[in-house]
Amino acid sequence: MELQHQRICLVHYHEIGLKGHNRSTFEKRLLKNVEALLVDFPVVTIHRIAGRLCVFLREGCDRKTAIEVADTIKGVPGVARVSCGFKCERNLVEMGQVAIEALSECEEFETFKVHARRNHTDFETDSMQMNQIIGADLCRAFPEKGVKMKDPDITVVVEVVQNASYIYARSVRGVGGLPVGSSGKVVSLLSSGIDSPVALWRMARRGAICIGVHFSGRPQTADTSEYLVDDIAHVLEKTGCIARVYVVPFGDYQKEIALTAPPSLRIILYRRLMFKVAEELARREHAGALVTGESLGQVASQTLDNIRATDQAVNTLVLRPLIGADKLEIIDSAQKLGTFEISSQDAPDCCTLFMPRSPETHAKIPDVLEAEASLPIEEWVKEIADAAEPHDYKCPSYRPPRTQ
Ligand code: ATP
Ligand code: MG
Repeated sequence: MELQHQRICLVHYHEIGLKGHNRSTFEKRLLKNVEALLVDFPVVTIHRIAGRLCVFLREGCDRKTAIEVADTIKGVPGVARVSCGFKCERNLVEMGQVAIEALSECEEFETFKVHARRNHTDFETDSMQMNQIIGADLCRAFPEKGVKMKDPDITVVVEVVQNASYIYARSVRGVGGLPVGSSGKVVSLLSSGIDSPVALWRMARRGAICIGVHFSGRPQTADTSEYLVDDIAHVLEKTGCIARVYVVPFGDYQKEIALTAPPSLRIILYRRLMFKVAEELARREHAGALVTGESLGQVASQTLDNIRATDQAVNTLVLRPLIGADKLEIIDSAQKLGTFEISSQDAPDCCTLFMPRSPETHAKIPDVLEAEASLPIEEWVKEIADAAEPHDYKCPSYRPPRTQ
């Protein structure tokens, strides 16, 4: 029977800015995140080897499983590239066979080259010689393919590290960024629309643990938007970036606002209350910022004046990763992220409730404060935050606050 080589996935990350203590914190965080997301896959262990993570797959795993593992890993923030390959002995004959196996698993290609290197090893064959020997083996096995030194379709990488060699050819790009849990925690206002999941994802990709807050029109509307937000959270959960979503029944408060405030200022008042509740939840979660999917000028509530009028309601830092993005760019990101289809479904949420016919586009803060003055805002904020319903998702770097 032919000897089966141990399948591996090598996880590469960008090394820019990774120095000293930073580097090992980054690597440990990434390792834990990847490990947690692979619990249901046949993985034996994950080690740090020569500046990468090496995921060792269980004996008997086939190519399809290895590809599934790589596809899961590539979506994890902090991953620059994932390669599928094998670990084998430091023996040139065996290494040649494994290189052939690795290359034969690549999809369509016309040209290739070998890139060999040695790392922390006393292996006597140098990289030039390895390139030649293994390159010759591959040319014999693939006579119809061409060797190309500059920009080949496939590079077969052969690395000898200490007492073993690692050989891989199939590589896919990762999402890049920083591992979730390396940049603190944020509270992200999550509607069931297209923009806010993308905004959340951008923060997650920079290493923030994300807590969603969704304001539902319940009990004044159906709870459809809550199901959509749950579906969105499940998509995000696959990358380990979302820890929790607080669902907030908001319809009754909107009704109260609609009954007392001038119609043109309603939306601003809804949004100020949303921000205040999100700020209170951020305080309870020890999160450092709020995040929204606002984009300048997209709708009436997103003019500079109106953004300023909502911002003024809170003392917390509000981040708007999409402020300068175009709708088409956002749609493109939502499609790549896998949330676009869900977000395109119609659901009445608190935003569609009690909408005025002509909303103010240039709100003045004194008018807003006057309209708000007769409402028991502080009392509401506590009441609404207490009634928020937490839904938990799998996020390996998240620790729930001890006191709620
Ligand atoms: P989105 O596509 O993200 O819903 P939008 O273009 O519909 O955005 P708005 O409705 O003005 O714009 O919302 C702006 C931002 O306010 C959203 O991106 C989101 O961060 C927040 N937001 C709006 N509605 C809700 C909601 N029901 N629950 C939580 N956050 C919301
Ligand atoms: Mg919306």
